[in-house]
Amino acid sequence: MPAPLNSRSELASVIDASIVEQLACPVCLGSLRVAETKLVCAGCGRSYPIVDGIPVLIAERAASLDR
Ligand SMILES: [Zn+2]
Repeated sequence: MPAPLNSRSELASVIDASIVEQLACPVCLGSLRVAETKLVCAGCGRSYPIVDGIPVLIAERAASLDR
């Protein structure tokens, strides 16, 4: 899928990877990984938005894939 080439060379640069490593899913405590502009839990598959470079790890805000 084509993506517009702006000043950002990497989508993952919206958040520091070293910060993500210290975070865990608030629902299942699984590990998180950066997927474009959100964090995806490897355990339960929920995705959390990243707002202004800050991950919003709130279970109520998570988008579940179980739909
Ligand atoms: Zn999880």
